[in-house]
Amino acid sequence: MGHVMIGVAASTLNCLPEYYVDLSDQQLDEHIRQAKAALGSRVVILGHHYQRDEVVKFADFRGDSLKLSRLAANRKEADFIVFCGVHFMAESADILRDEHQVVVLPDLSAGCSMADMADRDQVEVCWEEVCRIASGGVVPVTYINSTAAIKAFVGRNSGAVCTSSNAGKVMAWALAHGEKGLFIPDEHLGRNTAYRMGIPLDAMAVWDPRQEMGGLSEEEVRRARVILWKGHCSVHQRFLPEHIEKARKNYPGIRVIAHPECRWDVCQMADDVGSTELIITQVNEGGPGSQWAIGTEIHLVKRLAQENPDRTVISLDDCGCLCSTMYRISPQHLCWTLESLVEGQVVNRVQVDDETRRWARVALDRMLQIV
Ligand code: SF4
Repeated sequence: MGHVMIGVAASTLNCLPEYYVDLSDQQLDEHIRQAKAALGSRVVILGHHYQRDEVVKFADFRGDSLKLSRLAANRKEADFIVFCGVHFMAESADILRDEHQVVVLPDLSAGCSMADMADRDQVEVCWEEVCRIASGGVVPVTYINSTAAIKAFVGRNSGAVCTSSNAGKVMAWALAHGEKGLFIPDEHLGRNTAYRMGIPLDAMAVWDPRQEMGGLSEEEVRRARVILWKGHCSVHQRFLPEHIEKARKNYPGIRVIAHPECRWDVCQMADDVGSTELIITQVNEGGPGSQWAIGTEIHLVKRLAQENPDRTVISLDDCGCLCSTMYRISPQHLCWTLESLVEGQVVNRVQVDDETRRWARVALDRMLQIV
């Protein structure tokens, strides 16, 4: 294999060659292993916790999107960052990467329904209206599960990014610097976070971008301490209070952990609320015989159950809680992107333009200064 040149024949085509469709599972595994070995330290493969097993087994690192992006950026010897996650995660890796690194998303159609719910133009309209009404300043906060364009918008407007682990600290910072916080794009994480900080539900208003003036009156905007963008995760929103009741009935004594992207009533009923990293830590430290019902994506729950056979780990509801867009990253796509790199061709590169990258970086750096 010749040396791989960065940026050679970079392609944005997202068309899996027929050849890969016909390979057996065993052949795919073998091809991926060989391509990875040929690339050696020049590639780093990142696997998000929600990624399917047949892909994540090839990951050098497993984690959430911020942790993975930072790990990859620190792997200076890696020219190529292959992100087995969704589009906004690959964008975050591209924002944080070292200058010489190239980020690849094996299937460019692997988007995130939540990130796609906050369009930059819609956010600009909301911003103008809310700033017009608020006399004491508005500070925007965006969840890391948002597009680079939204992160850049927030960076440019003196706001910060947050993660599910540090949303409380970032929101407290925002409210200390302005009369109101604008939280994008997950209504549930915003509400759960603000409520935990002692902000009552009637001091929050939901801005629906599909309605004139977000569906709010000027008085409702004026009264709100926190404006929540009407967006959600299609996976986590499916968990319902009745699922918790059922789990507690079927497994007396079971502990329920909900991800903060779940609805407010679900988080209120759960024993613990926390990020993927907190969920993993709780189960790992739970000890033999402990029982866990988990409200998050099914691949992480199943993996935790497999890795902890001496405890009971179940999904709060295993019906439909699969991140179908992340599932698009298949072994076929991973194989194709790696073999293309071996041949000196970059397929499915994710590249954020310089201006967007610069401002998104400002919003990310601000978060790191706050937490
Ligand atoms: S689980 Fe939800 S928020 Fe996470 S990538 Fe999938 S759709 Fe987006």
